[in-house]
Amino acid sequence: MYMYLCISISILDLLVNCFCYIHIDRDGEPILLLQITSKRYWCRGEGKAIGKMDGFGSGEETRVVVVFDFDKTILDCDSDNWVVDQFGLSDTFRQLLLTGTPWNTLMDQMMSEIHSLGKSIGDIADCLRKALLHPRIASAIRSAHSAGCDLRILSDANMFFIKTILEHNGLMDCFSMIYTNPSFINESGRLRILPYHDFNKSIHGCNTCPPNMCKGLIMEKLMASSSTKGEELGNRFIYVGDGSADFCAGLALRAKDTLMPRKDFPVWELVCKNQKLIKAEVHEWSDGEGLEAVLLSSIKRALISYCQHENGNFDEPSAY
Ligand SMILES: [Mg+2]
Ligand SMILES: [Zn+2]
Repeated sequence: MYMYLCISISILDLLVNCFCYIHIDRDGEPILLLQITSKRYWCRGEGKAIGKMDGFGSGEETRVVVVFDFDKTILDCDSDNWVVDQFGLSDTFRQLLLTGTPWNTLMDQMMSEIHSLGKSIGDIADCLRKALLHPRIASAIRSAHSAGCDLRILSDANMFFIKTILEHNGLMDCFSMIYTNPSFINESGRLRILPYHDFNKSIHGCNTCPPNMCKGLIMEKLMASSSTKGEELGNRFIYVGDGSADFCAGLALRAKDTLMPRKDFPVWELVCKNQKLIKAEVHEWSDGEGLEAVLLSSIKRALISYCQHENGNFDEPSAY
């Protein structure tokens, strides 16, 4: 169910085009969202890869693999909601969600609506470049990459949105793989968004995740792909996310891994209710500063643990 209420703040509206929105997002969580001019300052409540990022293989020498959700984790807001809102299609999107059509399918329809408004792929890219990515999250990603971690994204957004935003923020080269819904520009210049799992052919059977993508299944495959060499090397996984599907991904983690749920978001609530199901260490975060601090300390802990496993010594890794 998707509800939308836009409360125009009359005086500020006239002065700075300030709006307060309340959404029900893809996890069914209410979001209060403040938009001032073209930037959102606060919000509450998520493939097939291209080129070098194709497939599941992992670098054999990687000691720590960090897997990030994208929307409301790397990006401050939800990129799907951001684009729909910016093109004035929030009401249309809400009405279509009420029909029970899957979110991913509706986003493809929204791209058709945007195209019929005469907007180009460049207009969508410009819109995406305005979405806020917290500077501490950008620095956390760069630090983790510099420390030698293998960074990946597992997201229910789509490849075009994610690549556009990462490239704009100079972060694309930090990631080795992106697992998300595939996208392409068709012959008429419209963006098409397809499901990661083709649910018309087979159903993944997970009730936590949407039909187009089960993050738990993808995490299991991702971890299994590096298990032979990776297990020998004692590699560690760290997973960072905010949504219900990120809880499903967290279920795949082992005792030596780390789950970083965003506090007071759906993943956090599911972790609190199902603590016995989570084998990994859990370390919460709330905002950009928190994500950076918790991620870097989790990486340090994972590297120390790796060194103990590999060498039987207790020296701290040189990266920290
Ligand atoms: Mg998310
Ligand atoms: Zn799932």
